[in-house]
Amino acid sequence: MAQRNVVVVGASFAAIPVINGLKRKLPSTHRIIVVDPKSHFHFAFAFPAAAVESGWEETLFIPYNNVLLPEQGLVIQAGVNEVHPNSVVLDRHIDASQFANADSGTTNVIPYDCLVYAAGAWHPSPTTMQHFSTKSESIAELQTWQDRIARAKKPLVVGCGGSGAELAADIAEMYGATKHLTVVHSREKYFDSFGPNVDAVVYQVLDKLGVVQFRGERVVFPKGGFPNDGSTFEVETSTGRKIKADLVIPCTGLVPNTSPLTILSANLVNEQGFVNVLPTAQVTNPHFPNVFVVGDAGDFGPIKTAKEARKQAAVAVANVLKMIREGPLHGELSHITRSAPRINLIMGKWTNVVVFTLWGCNIAIATRLGGFFKWLMGVRGSPGAKKIWRALSAKM
Ligand SMILES: Cc1cc2nc3c(=O)[nH]c(=O)nc-3n(C[C@H](O)[C@H](O)[C@H](O)COP(=O)(O)OP(=O)(O)OC[C@H]3O[C@@H](n4cnc5c(N)ncnc54)[C@H](O)[C@@H]3O)c2cc1C
Repeated sequence: MAQRNVVVVGASFAAIPVINGLKRKLPSTHRIIVVDPKSHFHFAFAFPAAAVESGWEETLFIPYNNVLLPEQGLVIQAGVNEVHPNSVVLDRHIDASQFANADSGTTNVIPYDCLVYAAGAWHPSPTTMQHFSTKSESIAELQTWQDRIARAKKPLVVGCGGSGAELAADIAEMYGATKHLTVVHSREKYFDSFGPNVDAVVYQVLDKLGVVQFRGERVVFPKGGFPNDGSTFEVETSTGRKIKADLVIPCTGLVPNTSPLTILSANLVNEQGFVNVLPTAQVTNPHFPNVFVVGDAGDFGPIKTAKEARKQAAVAVANVLKMIREGPLHGELSHITRSAPRINLIMGKWTNVVVFTLWGCNIAIATRLGGFFKWLMGVRGSPGAKKIWRALSAKM
């Protein structure tokens, strides 16, 4: 008898712990079908640094071919366009013999018993690569940024969240006074959802590196975008300020990839585009108890990190297994517990800004300890890429 499917939409930080959590525990009646349009896992934590410094891009794109044994399931390179109550519709046709709903020819429909939606969010390049069909085109995109940044004399970073802060620090540290680097951030404070103390620490780190910073004003993007062709042009902000720049690097935050779920039901997604979720990681609409959401696509609160996604993934795995063993509406499901905000910003090769909570107090410190250990161990950027190579059972 054909195996039934647990479909995982997306194959990034939130999906990998789901896949690894399910693959050894699913009964043999079921297998995992992972769908993602990317050819490789993108270790995006390091993209800000890799958009500045060359020579380590190969390690940031990790193949999926060993993550599942054939009897455990398969990874399909495709996008999901539509989520329906018991099937998903892909953006392309694939060999149908792999699925229970057809036995020859091609299909773009995959049936599922349970769905784990982990399609995350879109960011502008270089935070996420816009070319991802092959590893070489993703690497080429990063290298284009390295060239543009190397040539620019007056780069301007728009947005100072995780990606903007790290990128600005990387540029300033590598090029120092040879570039006049500006950061414009739309809010009055940096990282306000991580507590009151982060803003001043991040500001000081960038200030010491010589970065000119404007907060509480928005860059006005012209129709058709900025030239970014090496010429000098004027960038205007919402306060009327005019800044001379020759390269604008957008780091303007995330846009959730949730439109495929709106086919299932319009009320699944909130005004900001995030999926309304229960503490069980299920969607809030009770008609779809077999649809789970993990990671940045879900409205789990303002802290969107891979660390939080791992907690959501553990709950989704437990509940999917329970549902498959006991049926959709039986027994008590596991719940996600909220934790205090934590973040580790890698601001250049040497400085980390670490934010955590101790005895109820929000603490933010800039430390060079992490940089020192990385230097000792010869690690570049975020040391986490190695963990992903291991999690995907991938080999260089
Ligand atoms: C610069 C930077 C540094 C960071 N550093 C850290 C850190 O040190 N620690 C930490 O915990 N967090 C960090 N984060 C946050 C972390 O990267 C995110 O929380 C995490 O990527 C969320 O994972 P995700 O799988 O939900 O989404 P994503 O990583 O956005 O992945 C979504 C996946 O879904 C796929 N997809 C999209 N649409 C579809 C579709 N229609 N069909 C199929 N597949 C689809 C995409 O191709 C992608 O592979 C950082 C973020 C940034 C920007």
